[in-house]
Amino acid sequence: MRKPGPPAQSVTINTNGGFFLSSVGNTDLRIDRGRFKGGTEPAQLFILLHEFGHVMGVLTPGETKQSQVDKNDKTLDTKCKDLIKSFPR
Ligand SMILES: [Zn+2]
Repeated sequence: MRKPGPPAQSVTINTNGGFFLSSVGNTDLRIDRGRFKGGTEPAQLFILLHEFGHVMGVLTPGETKQSQVDKNDKTLDTKCKDLIKSFPR
């Protein structure tokens, strides 16, 4: 059985980000390094997968740079390739 990430984690969804919105001001929000348009079902599924990846200890915690988020997203793209391919478009 996989060991979880750091104890007492919670998942937070930014209500002003790509889970709910396709853009903020004049900026289009894209998820998974531009793969999914924000506010769409595949974007929401990918965001939840990413957050569960942290809770499960699969992804590197404490991202402070977009490059670190991108690296984690790339890990998901590799480890969850078939699941991500099954997301509705
Ligand atoms: Zn993350």
